[in-house]
Amino acid sequence: MAVGFDPWAAVLERLDDAAKLTGVDPDIHRLLRTPKRVLEVAVPVRMDEGHVEVFTGWRIHHDTTRGPAKGGLRFHPQLDAREVAALAAAMTLKTAVANLPFGGAKGGVRCDPTKLSLGELERVTRRYTVEVMPLLGQDRDVPAPDVNTDGRVMAWLMDTLATMTGRAEPGAVTGKPLSIGGTRGHSGATSAGVVVCTRSVFTELEIPVAGSRAIIQGFGKVGGPLAFLLSSAGMRVVAVSDIGGAVHNPAGLDVSALADHCAHAGTVAGFDRGDPIEPDDMWELDCELAVPAALEGAIDDHVAGRLGARVVVEAANGPTTPSADAILDRRDIVVVPDILANSGGVTASYFEWAQSRQGYAWDEHTVASRLRKGMEESFVGVWAKSELLGVSLRRAAFALAVERVAEAISARGLFP
Ligand code: NAD
Repeated sequence: MAVGFDPWAAVLERLDDAAKLTGVDPDIHRLLRTPKRVLEVAVPVRMDEGHVEVFTGWRIHHDTTRGPAKGGLRFHPQLDAREVAALAAAMTLKTAVANLPFGGAKGGVRCDPTKLSLGELERVTRRYTVEVMPLLGQDRDVPAPDVNTDGRVMAWLMDTLATMTGRAEPGAVTGKPLSIGGTRGHSGATSAGVVVCTRSVFTELEIPVAGSRAIIQGFGKVGGPLAFLLSSAGMRVVAVSDIGGAVHNPAGLDVSALADHCAHAGTVAGFDRGDPIEPDDMWELDCELAVPAALEGAIDDHVAGRLGARVVVEAANGPTTPSADAILDRRDIVVVPDILANSGGVTASYFEWAQSRQGYAWDEHTVASRLRKGMEESFVGVWAKSELLGVSLRRAAFALAVERVAEAISARGLFP
């Protein structure tokens, strides 16, 4: 995360703007400015060499009016409550844009998984699960993977819940392995959704996909598959960066060889079929598409002023700061916002939740075609709203989401 960037303040600024744009009831606006429920927990874990380390964890529900809370689980050494709250609020808005019957949540543990053994990672996950268990369940709150967590972590979480309650509840977690009730097509779903948004926005802007150049920040669960999908669509992925460095090849990187290198070296840095480039300089490369797929605040004023791309499609959550947004707007760089662009992941999670509750697995084609249709419809809805209001896609997406959540809040009314 960029130094000094406050993700919760950024969410509030955008919520306030959406409230103004839509003229939403001020009482509902006030409700949305406060997370519904914040649980902070101590996560004591016996480390391999004998002592007990006490990590801090959170699970935050931002709003649950439209359905059970839904949101990922992040393990990161700089995680704090404001970041988790911001990510939870983004989930409320994202599930509303995608029109899914969920509210918004997020959780995580402040820890550095690169410094944990597999056993320590499992103990962190299982102890965290027990500490936040009062909030979890298929009708209450359904976690999924996020930064530094994966299907294995979800499997431990599901097993811990089942062990503690004495009953199987596969619908209580998504992003789990296929062998225990995960869905086909989950692992590439966020990236597939980013591609749908890229195709849709390029069509609107009359930019051909084939032959266009892309840069990607992040080569993890989202950035990795995305690089494959973009190059399969005929784009040239000319640069990729990650925590370890960046590589550049104007002719287009061999994505498959890059993935092999990364699997071996743990980073894209050092890939020999491209030239090293400073990660910060990557943003200046002349290209049609830039995809931030790492952490919040990556596109700040400094990056926005030099960005060489015509279009940004936000795979990461909160990658652009509000002031950078204004710069991109002035420079006529079109931004497809996170709450639309990366909603393929939560859409696949919704499909998984539905399958787990039905006890009936869908085939790959059903998942892929419903995902594509859902993403296309979400894009069309946000694009139309942006034309109607004469505002950026981000402001339009926030406005659409706030209207949908506000409608649900006023339909249910205030207790007591
Ligand atoms: P990941 O942990 O699998 O990968 C993160 C990648 O970002 C890694 O390649 C890492 O090296 C890189 N990175 C980290 N810090 C960096 C830095 N300072 N500079 C450059 N690269 C850096 O995480 P992920 O699941 O791919 O998530 C990436 C982003 O996408 C996050 O913002 C996440 O919230 C968002 N997202 C993920 C999903 C999903 O399905 N996993 C869904 C929606 C949104």
